[in-house]
Amino acid sequence: MAYIEVQQATRQFKNGEQVTVANRDISFEVDQGAVVVILGPSGAGKSTLLNILGGMDSPTSGRVLVDGVDIAQFNSRQLTTYRRQAVGFVFQFYNLVPNLTARENVELASQITKDARDVDETLALVGLTHRADNFPAQLSGGEQQRVAIARAVAKNPKLLLCDEPTGALDYQTGKQVLQVIQDAAKQTQTTVIIVTHNSAIAQLGDQVIRINDAQVQSVEHNAHPTPLA
Ligand code: ADP
Ligand code: ADP
Repeated sequence: MAYIEVQQATRQFKNGEQVTVANRDISFEVDQGAVVVILGPSGAGKSTLLNILGGMDSPTSGRVLVDGVDIAQFNSRQLTTYRRQAVGFVFQFYNLVPNLTARENVELASQITKDARDVDETLALVGLTHRADNFPAQLSGGEQQRVAIARAVAKNPKLLLCDEPTGALDYQTGKQVLQVIQDAAKQTQTTVIIVTHNSAIAQLGDQVIRINDAQVQSVEHNAHPTPLA
């Protein structure tokens, strides 16, 4: 059985008379431990889909099975528990707490989870042991994003959701950050979903889902994912 099964998920937004269909009949499956790249232009519906997978929003219709449980049926309390326990988030702009060190940022996340990972092991996993006592402002963009990845992974999530994780970084730094995400995912058997408009990132996914105009355009499986050149 697939780890994630999205079945004809539709999300529409109503604004008075105006109806916007942000996701239309979205269906795909993801295996446990896979790195999935969701690719599409601005306005395609990627954030809407990511919000649904992360428990920040629910579809208007359809099913979203995660580990066999339909999160589309969750009430807001169940969604909050799901977000806290099951999902790690990595954003474009890191979202670290500025007056906490790298280690303290990671500790904060691990405290909200029952079976959190060891904080120092998680910092080592992203190559930041030597920066553990630095504050975010003392770190480069790439290092801050590594802290954010460590913070997300420390929760020991089932699912790691990354929203344009390299959007604020130069090419070389972005490449390294993607490698950290990929390595951390493989070592911890975490299923990763990376949302991006950057088609260069597609080649490192085990699976690439192209979204356009609210719909799935194609789903490709990549037998030999490769790091960026
Ligand atoms: P992407 O992340 O690919 O840029 P989005 O999921 O943000 O795309 O948006 C898809 C479409 O849904 C857009 O037309 C957007 O304006 C619309 N949309 C997204 N969120 C809302 C909302 N809360 N209310 C109304 N329309 C929305
Ligand atoms: P808390 O208020 O205790 O942080 P939340 O339910 O608001 O609890 O957040 C739980 C998790 O979901 C956190 O890891 C947070 O980063 C993430 N989260 C909450 N809201 C959003 C959002 N709008 N977009 C992305 N991630 C979010």
